[in-house]
Amino acid sequence: MADQNTKSAAKAYNYIDHKFDVIVVGAGGAGLRATLGMAEQGLKTACITKVFPTRSHTVAAQGGIAASLRNMGPDHWHWHMYDTVKGSDWLGDTDAMEYLARQAPAAVYELEHYGVPFSRTEEGKIYQRPFGGHMQNFGDGPPVQRTCAAADRTGHAILHTLYGQSLRNNAQFFIEYFALDLIMTDGVCTGVVAWNLDDGTIHRFSAKMVVLATGGYGRAYFSATSAHTCTGDGGGMVARAGLPLQDMEFVQFHPTGIYGAGCLITEGARGEGGYLVNSEGERFMERYAPSAKDLASRDVVSRCMTMEIREGRGVGKNKDHIFLHLDHLDPAVLHERLPGISESAKIFAGVDLTKEPIPVLPTVHYNMGGVPTNYWGEVLNPTADEPDRVLPGLMAVGEAGCASVHGANRLGSNSLIDLVVFGRAAAIRAGEVIDRDTAIPDLNEAACDAIMDRFDRIRNANGTTSTAVIRERMQRAMQEDAAVFRTQESLEQGCKRISAIWQELGDIKVHDRSMIWNSDLVETLELYNLMANAITTVYGAEARKESRGAHAREDYSERDDANWRKHTLAWIDDAGNVKLDYRGVKLDPLLKEQDGGIPLAKIAPKKRVY
Ligand SMILES: Cc1cc2nc3c(=O)[nH]c(=O)nc-3n(C[C@H](O)[C@H](O)[C@H](O)COP(=O)(O)OP(=O)(O)OC[C@H]3O[C@@H](n4cnc5c(N)ncnc54)[C@H](O)[C@@H]3O)c2cc1C
Repeated sequence: MADQNTKSAAKAYNYIDHKFDVIVVGAGGAGLRATLGMAEQGLKTACITKVFPTRSHTVAAQGGIAASLRNMGPDHWHWHMYDTVKGSDWLGDTDAMEYLARQAPAAVYELEHYGVPFSRTEEGKIYQRPFGGHMQNFGDGPPVQRTCAAADRTGHAILHTLYGQSLRNNAQFFIEYFALDLIMTDGVCTGVVAWNLDDGTIHRFSAKMVVLATGGYGRAYFSATSAHTCTGDGGGMVARAGLPLQDMEFVQFHPTGIYGAGCLITEGARGEGGYLVNSEGERFMERYAPSAKDLASRDVVSRCMTMEIREGRGVGKNKDHIFLHLDHLDPAVLHERLPGISESAKIFAGVDLTKEPIPVLPTVHYNMGGVPTNYWGEVLNPTADEPDRVLPGLMAVGEAGCASVHGANRLGSNSLIDLVVFGRAAAIRAGEVIDRDTAIPDLNEAACDAIMDRFDRIRNANGTTSTAVIRERMQRAMQEDAAVFRTQESLEQGCKRISAIWQELGDIKVHDRSMIWNSDLVETLELYNLMANAITTVYGAEARKESRGAHAREDYSERDDANWRKHTLAWIDDAGNVKLDYRGVKLDPLLKEQDGGIPLAKIAPKKRVY
């Protein structure tokens, strides 16, 4: 137990100290690919994860991973890059988007060689399906078959393979350890403090490099496809270290969450021929997106569905959702290509999808924003003069990071490829910047004590409101005020509500004070992290007076490149004050056109129609 009488409560905990070259926090696809890459280079690497690695949210990824392999028709990495630029609504960083599209095929073949059991074509090649926003010939052609799939369990296949490979390369795992905070020493990250949930010990890790791969923060919203563990802990840690978060206002709603349950029906369902209908039986996407139809990008489809519902053409008793039809497809194809969602539809909607449509609704699915990085995964601590200034000792990859390849809207199947391409890039870069001859930094005791004093305060918090009550208030405020469509009024109200909830954290009550499997305390720490993400999301959204990608404002319905083609940066102080600033979008590709790069004219901003 903490001894309240000692000068610093921190002194009362049981510590175990470690030294590693690299600490990766998170064992989803991004964390495992980084861990594997670091270990392969002979760096002494530890991976800390709050859930068992193969339970990370990546396991739920269904539809697939994008790469221009051309196994099932023509494709080119230029086309993939173009689709990503357009998908991002011209907010993505050009160097990062090029790196992603260009490295994608090699990254997928690497996964194949590591042992990922991809579905196969008749000739034995990796099977690829169409996905939203992925088109042929710089958007002028029909949908391209670019999304590599292992049935509808692609994330599962990738995660298990990467975990096995990481073990094979002797990475050390600290499983069911909750990372509390970054250890910062004179503006350099020198490690991380974690709590072993199983025996209550506190582990202080010193390292030359810390990699955050903690995933998204979908659980800031009431209805999300993400796992309950997606609480933006990396964003919380970074904000507490005084560093900014980037582009947080861009939150992706997936068109097809199961109505009522929020579970995902993959976009692969529409890739295989599924379509949406309104209460009049109309395939309304044909009206809004004549060429891509149901395979327009996610922000577009989600908005169209919301408009149909608002105009009274929703289905069901309350006319508040839409139907997804798969019942016209051959049951054998459904069984082979989409076995998982057949099961989800049965369990969560009580529907046999070979006979009936699935009730669906746009549901929070992905966070485009996160910890700003360059395309090597190095975390940025920008100033006005130095927008690309790197913070030594810290990297961020996967959904927690913001490279930014997804800009204002991510294309389906572009996240799994982001995890492996940038997980690998981070390992390559760490191999270059880590000096193997210098000693691992000494433990910064004072910084660790401050982290543990905070932990102790929260553990002993004795207010009047439970964590669950405050969390639900936050989730409802985000769901109502930072939704698919936004207005000045809704966003101002959202800022007020979330700021008031921030103050309520001072009145939180933690009921369980123990150190062993204390889920009450874990959820409270997660709530603090979620709040850091939520508050930067609504303040960033309120300030951005335009519509771009997933940020759709009814009062500013057009994209405004002259004033707003820039990344939002948001800092928070302890009192919950948000400070905003901006940094320019990176416009230069890595490869010049004469060296095989994409023709620049192709990626100049234009209106985004599908
Ligand atoms: C249902 C669903 C389906 C999807 N389908 C696809 C798809 O088909 N294709 C596609 O490209 N994308 C898809 N996505 C998106 C994609 O799966 C995610 O963006 C991606 O898996 C995130 O991976 P990650 O490695 O960044 O984080 P995650 O997989 O979320 O892993 C986060 C890791 O961080 C650890 N962690 C977090 N906080 C802490 C802490 N405080 N201490 C210690 N450890 C911590 C967790 O234990 C976990 O290991 C889907 C997403 C969902 C929700």
